[in-house]
Amino acid sequence: MDRFRRPEYTGENRCTPCTIVNVSIAVVASTVLTFLAIPLGVAFFVFSLVAIYLRGYLVPGTPRFTKTYFPDWLLRKFDKHEPQTAEPKATDHEPEAVLAAANVVGPCEEMDDLCLNEEFRAVWHENMERVMEEGAEKRDLSRILGADESELEFEEHDSAFIAKIDGRRLGQWESRPSLIADLAAARELSDRYHQWDRLSIDNQSRILSGLRIFLDTCPECGADITIEQETVESCCRSIEVVAATCEGCDARILEVEQME
Ligand SMILES: [Zn+2]
Repeated sequence: MDRFRRPEYTGENRCTPCTIVNVSIAVVASTVLTFLAIPLGVAFFVFSLVAIYLRGYLVPGTPRFTKTYFPDWLLRKFDKHEPQTAEPKATDHEPEAVLAAANVVGPCEEMDDLCLNEEFRAVWHENMERVMEEGAEKRDLSRILGADESELEFEEHDSAFIAKIDGRRLGQWESRPSLIADLAAARELSDRYHQWDRLSIDNQSRILSGLRIFLDTCPECGADITIEQETVESCCRSIEVVAATCEGCDARILEVEQME
């Protein structure tokens, strides 16, 4: 059985629209075959369902076909590639405005862009080292979330670092280094921005992940971070992202979906 199994198209990678397309094809083809001989139609239908179950598809090429030709809004509904942060609310404070008011970013000296305040960068890195030395990830995060530290659990898989309580997901980061960067920045921002503690957790997390674009060395291993455009394959879609990745430990520091 395992020889036929295609894990890249089944289990949690199964693409629901592609499965629907293939089951429909199987129904039509089997119906046609029953006109020739009923057992033939039935046998083909059973064969098709087994193939779809094991391989994720019946007709070769349909996973790619579905990704390419189905409208993105439809695929998005079925997609399991979850966004890192919630949709912004109208009452949210804009990341750029908060970071500028906190004197964390400002106009660059040499170009027309925003640059990180170098004094903040130094403090930020000091804080990252402190978070790691103290092993303070759980303590810091549970305080921010207002949760019980002993109940907080971390789970690391694929390209996600997830904080859970009782199996319920409370937050998700691209990697452990990105959580460390956020916690270190949060320690500083609550001093620099008076309303910080009154912002919603989602709002805080949006500001913190926006700040990560300014990181140029990895919080965990110290290697350089490179920013590239990449295509990320999820079950149903090919997603164009801007990704910041550590060259040393390969940790994903930031991943932002590019909107068309
Ligand atoms: Zn690294």
